[in-house]
Amino acid sequence: MSPSLWGLFGGAFNPPHYGHLRSALEVVELLRLERLLFLPSGGHPFKGADLLAPTTHRVAMTALAIAGEPRFALSTVEADRPGVSYTVDTLTRLSREHPDRELVLLLGTDLLEELHLWKDWRTMIDRTHLCLLTRPGFPENLSRTPAGRFLASHRVDGPAGLHRAVLGHHGFLIQPVTMLEISSTDLRHRVAAGRSLRYLTPEPVAEYIQRHGLYATH
Ligand code: ATP
Repeated sequence: MSPSLWGLFGGAFNPPHYGHLRSALEVVELLRLERLLFLPSGGHPFKGADLLAPTTHRVAMTALAIAGEPRFALSTVEADRPGVSYTVDTLTRLSREHPDRELVLLLGTDLLEELHLWKDWRTMIDRTHLCLLTRPGFPENLSRTPAGRFLASHRVDGPAGLHRAVLGHHGFLIQPVTMLEISSTDLRHRVAAGRSLRYLTPEPVAEYIQRHGLYATH
């Protein structure tokens, strides 16, 4: 029997929203993931600290956002690390802590563009399966990016291919999922403008933002 697959969904979650949650749920179902770990970032290598709500708040909001879906879980591996946190270190740690699980790193299309700039990205790819989340109907042109060109040779043709790849080396999958037109940036702007977040993020997250006065100016 092949080992169980756990997905890793990293992000700033600043704040989390239904775009994250909907695509995460679809991935869980399509890839038959036993668990999907949400990994709020700590210090972020590419985002200025002034745009980020404090890590403790983003962790708390992520916990509120995923409550109620038993296959979703929170991991503070990245959030707890002092200073800048790198995905390769997270993968090394999680694969040591869960040697009986296979890990799948989930990435948005936007991240494929910059993947070759990530610390030790080739090592990182060696330690995990990779699943690129795309919008339905928009096949990616892999040859456009250095990481995409490398990954093309590891590509499997669907979720079943990923499970087959478990029994040997790592696979790369392009998985179309529903991408709601929602971004954390837009949510922050709405808060700063005094507008409602209703139907863009779970109500407990919106209430948390209001209670703690997050994003009132940015
Ligand atoms: P920001 O607007 O601040 O850049 P964001 O909304 O893109 O934030 P992140 O926390 O940076 O959210 O994203 C975490 C992960 O979720 C990334 O892999 C990103 O590609 C993905 N993601 C973000 N928004 C959506 C969405 N609407 N649908 C599906 N996936 C999304």
